[in-house]
Amino acid sequence: MEVYPSMFQIARDKNSTIAQNRCGNSWSVVLRRNVQDWEMGSLLELLANVEKYKTNDTCADTLLWGRNNSFTVKDCYHHICCQNQIIELWPWKLIWKTKMPTKIICFCWIAAHEACLTIDNLNKKGLELEDKCCMCQNSPETINHPLLHCAVAKDLRNMFCCIFGLEWIMPQNVKEAYASWNSWRVDKSIKKVWVMIPGVIFWGLWTERNRRCFDGISTPNHSLKASCLFLLFSWVNLTPVFSTEQFLDFVSLLVLV
Ligand SMILES: [Zn+2]
Repeated sequence: MEVYPSMFQIARDKNSTIAQNRCGNSWSVVLRRNVQDWEMGSLLELLANVEKYKTNDTCADTLLWGRNNSFTVKDCYHHICCQNQIIELWPWKLIWKTKMPTKIICFCWIAAHEACLTIDNLNKKGLELEDKCCMCQNSPETINHPLLHCAVAKDLRNMFCCIFGLEWIMPQNVKEAYASWNSWRVDKSIKKVWVMIPGVIFWGLWTERNRRCFDGISTPNHSLKASCLFLLFSWVNLTPVFSTEQFLDFVSLLVLV
């Protein structure tokens, strides 16, 4: 279908089996009309290709998958990746290979695909909503605005940059943010915290955006920053913060040497 689309188009039965296209010991591809001159090359190439495969007429004609004849999601994913460079280049490990709760990982994945239900995306689906960010009230809520370009997002991101003593050039989108954040080489001791920071920023901003949109409740910026750090602490230590000393020790560990 994908390799010889012109042959697939004129196949008499597009779901036919191998056996139905065999006659004795040779191939007999069944087409619904005669092959035109310009299609002849494609047909000859197809026949030359399938000739390499040996058939066993004593076995039933069945569909098999891969080398081990069994379907696996991993094999299927690799097959799709081979055909699509974009999937191959996607930094999926930066999102899926973290210790964040599954719900947050799924959200970050959706955000990286620019599929969050922002006003911009909802309007594309046919809703007619006033396109204004409910956090800063200053800009349209485009796909990447609440997570990256909003003033609230910048303030939260700056806090993490200050902790680490870094300057972060404004990324264009969530995918780029992941790539640039993880391009910094950090010590192994803080690596597992480091990879979760984009996620905690995005999740903190998205929940704050929803609180302002749906509940009319606005969290002061300093409280939002503190809650993101508490959340990060709970993901790393798998426990909520119980004491100030414990929390301050955690923050001091984050500082890059
Ligand atoms: Zn905004």
